[in-house]
Amino acid sequence: RPYVAAENRYENFGYRRVGDSGLVLPPLSLGLWWNFGDNRAFDTQREVLRHAFDHGINHFDLANNYGPPAGSAEENFGRMMRKDFMPYRNELVISSKAGYDMWAGPFGSFGSRKYLLASAEASLQAMNLDYVDIFYSHRYDPKTPLEETIGALDTLVRQGKAIYVGISSYSAERTAQAKAIADELGTPLVIHQPSYNILNPWVEHGLLATLQKEDMGAIAFTPLAQGLLTDKYLNGTDVQRQGGRRSLDAQLTEENLDKIHKLNDIALRRGQSLAQMSLAWLLREGAATSVLIGASSTKQLDENLGALKNVEFTETELNEIASIAQG
Ligand code: NDP
Repeated sequence: RPYVAAENRYENFGYRRVGDSGLVLPPLSLGLWWNFGDNRAFDTQREVLRHAFDHGINHFDLANNYGPPAGSAEENFGRMMRKDFMPYRNELVISSKAGYDMWAGPFGSFGSRKYLLASAEASLQAMNLDYVDIFYSHRYDPKTPLEETIGALDTLVRQGKAIYVGISSYSAERTAQAKAIADELGTPLVIHQPSYNILNPWVEHGLLATLQKEDMGAIAFTPLAQGLLTDKYLNGTDVQRQGGRRSLDAQLTEENLDKIHKLNDIALRRGQSLAQMSLAWLLREGAATSVLIGASSTKQLDENLGALKNVEFTETELNEIASIAQG
């Protein structure tokens, strides 16, 4: 049965402008880092993607290396594009990135012109697309001149392969430099994708201020600390709950478990789940433009969408949250 998107899909929430650009994003965007590789049933992926779009989430975030294995998320997404989303291409904001290890040799990682241009081409083919809406330099490359990396992004825009471009995990200082280069080239470097969550608020020490000054937007990744800031671990930790994310191990400390219990008390007082409060906190005044959620089921997606019912925080709540996070 062909997919027909829900008619009322744009009535669930307001869209948010990215800096001073023409790009607008939903408050919650869907990331395909972890649950869209060959590790999950294709039908489940498809159900989650359709459910997201039916609820107004029209931004899907990918990268060349998403999976697992690396590359499989773009291929699976390409199948879903072909099967379900081609009629909606003009409504979708699709992003990809290059910067982490993708193929063997010196041109399979970081930020050279050769790597970025080849990778963008491969991503377009895998996803069945003529262009992406945002193409990111996935990380700063200390060995390649920044002019070259940003110049490669500029080339993609001029070739019509990217509408906007972005940078991910660049420091405040590098961000300002990248923006100056992009401005000189006349390239729309409009968005930064940093990690950001209650337990990891590094962007509040300089980067957010820089983005504001440069009129750029911020889209937060790992908003739930990979699931730590949800109900999952409130009743103990076992490997099953981790969904195979070994990178979570280091975070599952007594100290962090104590913090999430305290944060959960505040969430309950607000009538939210811990996940909902954690997402809402990122969307409060002056913080992120959009938040990239990962979800392995429509149930998680629904819970996370519920966060949008209340994104206001009192001064007291903000102070309490900050003092718990600092420990
Ligand atoms: P989160 O911190 O939101 O973690 C997502 C995981 O949390 C899910 O996979 C799920 O775990 C769990 N989860 C989500 N909602 C709920 C819920 N309501 N209840 C219980 N558990 C829940 O985000 P990610 O770390 O996955 O990152 C999100 C996106 O950010 C990525 O897909 C990617 O697009 C982007 N990203 C970008 C990076 C970059 O370098 N630019 C790096 C990392 C991510 P489970 O799957 O086990 O069910």
